[in-house]
Amino acid sequence: MTEYHALRESDKINSSRRAPFYAPTVGAFSSATYPADVARLLRSFATFFALGAFANFFIAWLCVLPSTPGVDRWVCYHNPYGHADERDPIVMILVASTGREIASGMGRPGTFLDQHPDEVYIYYDNVWWPRESVTNDDAEFAVAAGWPMRCLMAWRTVSTVDLPEEIEFRHHDHWGIALDVISTRSGSLFGKILPLLPMPIGFVVNTVSYTFVFALAWNGTRRLNRWRRQSRNECAACAYPIGPAIRCPECGTTHVVASASSRVAFLPVNPSQRCTITSQ
Ligand SMILES: [Zn+2]
Repeated sequence: MTEYHALRESDKINSSRRAPFYAPTVGAFSSATYPADVARLLRSFATFFALGAFANFFIAWLCVLPSTPGVDRWVCYHNPYGHADERDPIVMILVASTGREIASGMGRPGTFLDQHPDEVYIYYDNVWWPRESVTNDDAEFAVAAGWPMRCLMAWRTVSTVDLPEEIEFRHHDHWGIALDVISTRSGSLFGKILPLLPMPIGFVVNTVSYTFVFALAWNGTRRLNRWRRQSRNECAACAYPIGPAIRCPECGTTHVVASASSRVAFLPVNPSQRCTITSQ
C-alpha cells in the first residue's frame, strides 16, 4: 500500500515536469469539456479546413493532367452568350471527362447549326467560362477542374502579331499555369493548363467535403491507435506500457481502469531509467 502511494506521488512529479515531446496526443473531436479542448478542437478543424483547401488544387490538377483518348464526351451547345456581336459564335463545344470540363468555340458554327440542328443542345447548367474564352478561334478555350464539383478554372486567349513575313500567334493564359509551351496552334486541340482561379461554390463545397473526410480519417486512425495501445496495456496517448494504472506516469493522461489487476508498470520521464514496481 505504501508503495502504491509512493507511486502516485511519483506520478505527480513526473507529470509536472513532462517534456513537450511526450505531451498527450489527445486529438480532434474528443469530448470537449475544457476551454483548452475547445481551442484544440478549433485548431484541428482549421488545420483540416486548410488541408481541404489545398486538396482542391491537388485533385483538380490531377483531373487535368491525364489525357486518355476516347474518354472525353463532346457535346455542342447553343452559346449562352449568344451572338450579340460578331465575336461570339452561336455554337460552342463542351468537352467533359471526370473532374474536368473544357469550353471552346468551333470552326464554322453557323454551318454546323444549319446541317446538324438536332446535335446542338441548350446549356442549362451554370455558365462558368468567361465570354472571351469561347470565340470563333478554336485555339481559345476555358478549362474548369475539380471533383466532385468544378472548383478551379483558367482560360486561354490568342492574339496575333504581324511580323514581316508571317503572322505569329501568341497564347495568353489567364489564371493558369501552362504546361504546353508550344507556341503553334497545331498539334493537340486543347493545351494543358493547371487552373488557379477558385470558383466560389465548387471551392467551398469541395473544401467542406474534404475537411470532413480528413477529420473522419484522422479520428478513425486515432481511435484505432488508442484501441491497439489499450489492448496491449499501453498508454493510449503516448504508448508507454502502464498496465492497469489509472494515470499514465509518463504523460499524465488519465485512463479508465479495465480491471482490478495490481500490477503497475511505471516509466519515469527518462526512458533509460525504466523500472517496474509491483504492489499488491
Ligand atoms: Zn502516456
